[in-house]
Amino acid sequence: FSPSYVRAIAPYQPGKPIAELAREMDLAEEDIVKLASNENPLGASPRALAAMENVLMEVARYPDGNGFLLKTALAEKYGVELNQIVLGNGSNDVLEMAARAFLAPGTSAIYSQYAFAVYPLATQAVGARGIETPARDYGHDLTAMLEAINDDTRVIFIANPNNPTGTLLGAKELEHFLEQVPHTVLVVLDEAYTEYLPKDQSSDSIAWLKKFPNLVITRTFSKAYGLAGLRLGFALAHPQVADLLNRVRQPFNANSMAQAAAVAAMLDDAFLEECIDINDAGMKQVTDGFKRLGLEYIPSCANFVAVKVGNAAAVNHSLLKQGVIVRPVANYGMSEHLRVSIGLKAENTKFLQALEIALGESK
Ligand code: PMP
Repeated sequence: FSPSYVRAIAPYQPGKPIAELAREMDLAEEDIVKLASNENPLGASPRALAAMENVLMEVARYPDGNGFLLKTALAEKYGVELNQIVLGNGSNDVLEMAARAFLAPGTSAIYSQYAFAVYPLATQAVGARGIETPARDYGHDLTAMLEAINDDTRVIFIANPNNPTGTLLGAKELEHFLEQVPHTVLVVLDEAYTEYLPKDQSSDSIAWLKKFPNLVITRTFSKAYGLAGLRLGFALAHPQVADLLNRVRQPFNANSMAQAAAVAAMLDDAFLEECIDINDAGMKQVTDGFKRLGLEYIPSCANFVAVKVGNAAAVNHSLLKQGVIVRPVANYGMSEHLRVSIGLKAENTKFLQALEIALGESK
């Protein structure tokens, strides 16, 4: 009975869970390295964990449906008003809210080739038409995206940096783009990996909210803040846009543990810096390894990197047998690449050793 546009959806493919691979390959869970979901290998800030403990006694109560304390902390940190913030069950939830609030059958959304897989999913789920523009050097081609806008376009999704390619658009280029998009088209700027950017490469995107009422910035606590399992993301937008997003939001979508942990995580700058330093060193270790193995990779600004391995399905199979989980990206039309998240030094070493063996086997 489901509408044809729902039946046409290709399901999202998450990274293989460690427990599942352990069963499949008869391996011990502690021998498995998972570098498949761009998670923080250091885990969460100890302050966030302590904050969660304080909430344990209150789990019988519903969370604060308006997230007052968390929004207050976010408003202070980012210099916005409370009514500009929308909380999500992960930032995926906010992306979906944008689709539910602004798209419908008869409208279209624009996203780029190789852009994050949730944009087509969210678009199709509400019966809107997805327009995929060709990528430039694996990244977004903003000129092609502008040209693709037509009368029924309501939303443009942009990931900066993008997953799975790690490509980045510069601030000037993005601002120029925003100046040209009609204000009747919502631009969802997905900045899930923004914390990993060096200061000189990051955009002052939040300041743009004052100029562009059609801009929605999405962020997450899943990546650099290490809280992926708690599911917490948020959007910053013009109050009227935020109001519309809130209308389609589930009342208690941000749970109480997540809200408390996020407030604490946000205040732990030292931990965040440590995570970023470890990611920088790990990125160098992994890309140096690719160079040594003679592999091409897409230079990445995030906590993962896509590497060209030839027969990615075969290489991936061999990696799995060796207890290393990375992410195939054939569903993005990248059948020769694998995406690997940056781990701790020992995890990266294990991955590179297993990759060398896998490449030999797949020849
Ligand atoms: N945007 C991008 C570009 C991502 O890579 C991800 C995570 N895969 C998300 C959004 C969603 O993350 P979460 O729902 O955990 O916030």
